[in-house]
Amino acid sequence: MNIELDIHTHTTASGHAYSTLNEMALAASEKGLKILATTDHAPAMPGGAHIYHFHNLRVIPKIIHDVRILRGVEANIINFQGELDIPHEILSEMELVIASFHSPCIEPSNIVKTTDALLNLMENRYVSVIGHPEDRRYAFDIENVVIAAKESKTLLEINNSSLLPTTFRENSREGLIKILEVCGNYNLPVIMGSDAHHTSSVGRFDMAISLIQEIGFPINLVLNRHADDFLDYISWKRR
Ligand SMILES: [Zn+2]
Ligand SMILES: [Zn+2]
Repeated sequence: MNIELDIHTHTTASGHAYSTLNEMALAASEKGLKILATTDHAPAMPGGAHIYHFHNLRVIPKIIHDVRILRGVEANIINFQGELDIPHEILSEMELVIASFHSPCIEPSNIVKTTDALLNLMENRYVSVIGHPEDRRYAFDIENVVIAAKESKTLLEINNSSLLPTTFRENSREGLIKILEVCGNYNLPVIMGSDAHHTSSVGRFDMAISLIQEIGFPINLVLNRHADDFLDYISWKRR
């Protein structure tokens, strides 16, 4: 599979990641990626970056080591109204916003509340991607969320790290298979993210790709294949 971008990566600014942005960009360049989104953890995550970190991302060059750097954030969903720990004006400055459930930031609840949180969240025009949606602790009504994702032009992530044996997320493989099945039925594009916390994982999609191939998910729905297609897709929601 031709891969041009990684949309989910962390640097030392996340508090529990171990490479600098320059190192991550070099790794992306060596992997032949055109785009690397830098999406550090937002303030509600223990050790996460301060709000000033995101506001000041403007000082970063657009291109480092021949790789286009997308200035982004992995924001935390902090309640079941689907609110995030980053104010709107900062979200508007980001080129890519991933929104995720993380257990230190929100206690898991039931499927109805989790679904509501995601439906509300997807109305936020700056949220382009729901990060690692397959974690069973935050299970939701897949059909309703996929329909809303399609209407709002929000993408669901296939998180490669969730599929590794080292993951702490629960039942990721089974969850992802169900989500991908419904995405396929509704012709909803998806995006793979490495969720790299070190250079060694930048552009790593081995587990995601083998799952996609195993279940016969349509390759044409995977937006990592062409950087321009991805940028086009996420620009619709922000218009
Ligand atoms: Zn995450
Ligand atoms: Zn992450």
